[in-house]
Amino acid sequence: MKTESSKALFDAAQHVIPGGVNSPVRAFKSVGGQPLFIKKADGAYLTDQDGNDYIELINSWGPMLFGHNHPHICCAVSNAIENSLSFGAPNAAEVKMAEKIVEFVPSIEKVRMVNSGTEATMSAIRLARGFTKKEKIIKLTGCYHGHGDSFLIAAGSGALTTGVPDSAGVTWGAAKDTLLADFNNIDQVEALTRQHPGEIAALILEPVAGNMGCVLPNPGYLEALRQICDREQIVLIFDEVMTGFRLAKGGAQELFGVMPDLTTLGKIIGGGMPVGAFGGKSEIMDCISPVGDVYQAGTLSGNPVAMAAGLAMLELIEQNSSSLYQDLERITTHIVNSIQSFIDQHQLPCTLNQVGSMYSLFFTSQKVVDFESAKSTDLEKFKQYFQLMLNLGIYLAPSQFESLFISTAITDQLADKIISSNEKALGLVFELETSQPA
Ligand SMILES: *Cc1c(COP(=O)(O)O)cnc(C)c1O
Repeated sequence: MKTESSKALFDAAQHVIPGGVNSPVRAFKSVGGQPLFIKKADGAYLTDQDGNDYIELINSWGPMLFGHNHPHICCAVSNAIENSLSFGAPNAAEVKMAEKIVEFVPSIEKVRMVNSGTEATMSAIRLARGFTKKEKIIKLTGCYHGHGDSFLIAAGSGALTTGVPDSAGVTWGAAKDTLLADFNNIDQVEALTRQHPGEIAALILEPVAGNMGCVLPNPGYLEALRQICDREQIVLIFDEVMTGFRLAKGGAQELFGVMPDLTTLGKIIGGGMPVGAFGGKSEIMDCISPVGDVYQAGTLSGNPVAMAAGLAMLELIEQNSSSLYQDLERITTHIVNSIQSFIDQHQLPCTLNQVGSMYSLFFTSQKVVDFESAKSTDLEKFKQYFQLMLNLGIYLAPSQFESLFISTAITDQLADKIISSNEKALGLVFELETSQPA
């Protein structure tokens, strides 16, 4: 495989961009080798700067639900561009967008648009604090909510302790107001509410975690969190930046039937453009400026071109909604079950987690239910697997702790290629005698 052009670009990039990338995981640090520079993408395929094609299972980290370069979305963007790129004033597309979000997402009555998932979660936390007049928040270890200071906190010596900053530059002041509990652990959340009575403004989580690999909530877990939050008057925030419009038209809250007070959205909602949103009960949302006293603003928020892309995406979802999520789940289940059969047949120490069109393969025989068990994966094996898959023409997320996504561009034929590539790659990683070199 020729990668000279990507190599040259990465060399040049490192002189002028820290680490050569504008978002760290893109640097391929945990999988070795050099990042590929992508020239274009169409349907299920990425094409790199050297002309190599890959079937891709990241979808730009989530947004490309219908694959790349979808004509309906691209056309909407081209049309919008003709009327200028930005107004900084109200426009019709924003209203339509808000109406669609309110229609799709069951718990949202009012919504504010922003430009990224990070902005959505930062604003939702400020809003929850302004609404409750309380300061502390609970976040779950292994859940990612963008790079806001309050979220870059990991469990030090375990949960139930006050957080320690996970990044240089995050102050102890910010860290001390973030309390931690493990995903799927109700007792720890109960304990935090006893230790900090009347002090907790919000509990934020990914209802299905996708940023420690794909990890599902245990049955009854989301319901139990809802009960605790009601009892303690804590604002329950579902960060559906990844799961929104991915697991169902109304996100994980629709799938599991548990309603949060606030929801954060991103990724799919922009159809590939930089868009985020946060919304929820009117009573809470009306605390934001200019109605209320919680300040929140954005020069490019509700940008007409971004709104056109997002609206076109939501239209596609609406047009296809009768079969879209069943079809995505069917093909993902086919891929996952086939890999699982291979794992069972050869008794490999691997674990697969799946919900809808999200899945992860972990290199551990433990069940993966939280960050601790996710970390039991063999990172060296993942690295080999990633590189083997890349050589077989399948582009995976360059980190073990990511979910993979299936788009509607993955046909049955491509699914078979993905399955056979997995069998080959796993055969080589575990040195099974029957497998041939790739
Ligand atoms: C991607 C992601 C974010 C951050 O969104 P950005 O647009 O990258 O700022 C926040 N929360 C979740 C659950 C995500 O998956």
